Amino acid sequence: MERARRVVETGVGLDEAGVLDVLRLPDGELPPILEIAHEARMRWCGPEVEVEGIVSLKTGGCPEDCHFCSQSGLFASPVRAVWLDIPSLVEAARQTAATGASEFCIVAAVRGPDDRLMAQLRDGVKAIRDAVDINIAASVGMLSQEQVDELVAMGIHRYNHNLETARSFFPQVVTTHSWEERWDTLRMVRDSGMEVCCGGILGLGETVEQRAEFAMQLRELDPHEVPLNFLNPRPGTPLAEQPVLSPRDALRAIAAFRLALPKTLLRYAGGREITLGDLGTRDGLLGGVNAVIVGNYLTTLGRPASADLDLLDELKMPVKALSATL
Ligand code: SF4
Repeated sequence: MERARRVVETGVGLDEAGVLDVLRLPDGELPPILEIAHEARMRWCGPEVEVEGIVSLKTGGCPEDCHFCSQSGLFASPVRAVWLDIPSLVEAARQTAATGASEFCIVAAVRGPDDRLMAQLRDGVKAIRDAVDINIAASVGMLSQEQVDELVAMGIHRYNHNLETARSFFPQVVTTHSWEERWDTLRMVRDSGMEVCCGGILGLGETVEQRAEFAMQLRELDPHEVPLNFLNPRPGTPLAEQPVLSPRDALRAIAAFRLALPKTLLRYAGGREITLGDLGTRDGLLGGVNAVIVGNYLTTLGRPASADLDLLDELKMPVKALSATL
């Protein structure tokens, strides 16, 4: 607790031992640590909450084998490859902007973009920029340096590429590419000047030590944003039978990641409803989370956007305006 309070005062994140201590705190100490994590967020990030919508440009049929992902074409998952057309993309951006969101992320289930996807992205980004006032982010897998440069030229503001889990655990959940390949893309994106969005999924079967290791690897990368997903076991994937993380472990993780990364945007991403329930959304927003994805996730349904926006209103947390992010 002492070390956690120092994070509030200094803005310097916890080290690995400190993170591990938070992840192992007894249930009785959960409310005070969430309070301290919330103080750290308010002191170093402020009360605003960043709201983002996501849309899938290409869904399913991915050649990779990430064991948690129903978009892999290698498992008997029900998600089939589907491409979105440009008018639908622009309409999704328009609807996202109408919720007050400042960020719209275009996602594709691919190992990395091929020429066809890059062309689609170029056309889609131009069409959105012509019609809607919103920042555009992208998440289209591993990139070459030329592709990084092209995304910068298109005006992509932030790039999402998750490390997913700790380096030491990654080979147990993905065998078709390495953690280091993901790291290489992230390094190029960071050096390009685009904002880096990089997080992962908790509850894949990693140990608490590996959870702390992952927090340190994110700290080394120093991303602008960390999306935290909790595994929502999908039928047909190798992790279909993996038990869902307990709500308390998920909240311990939120506090621990906030205290490791006091100045980073910490976003609630997929799996929060099944892991934490509706009440958990409030607990997390009062425990270090300061960004949300509204509406649906890529392959699972989320809460209605209005439920999250009403909650932010009630908690007196203003939605971060677009002008403030440009
Ligand atoms: S997580 Fe990404 S790279 Fe892995 S299978 Fe799913 S869509 Fe493909």
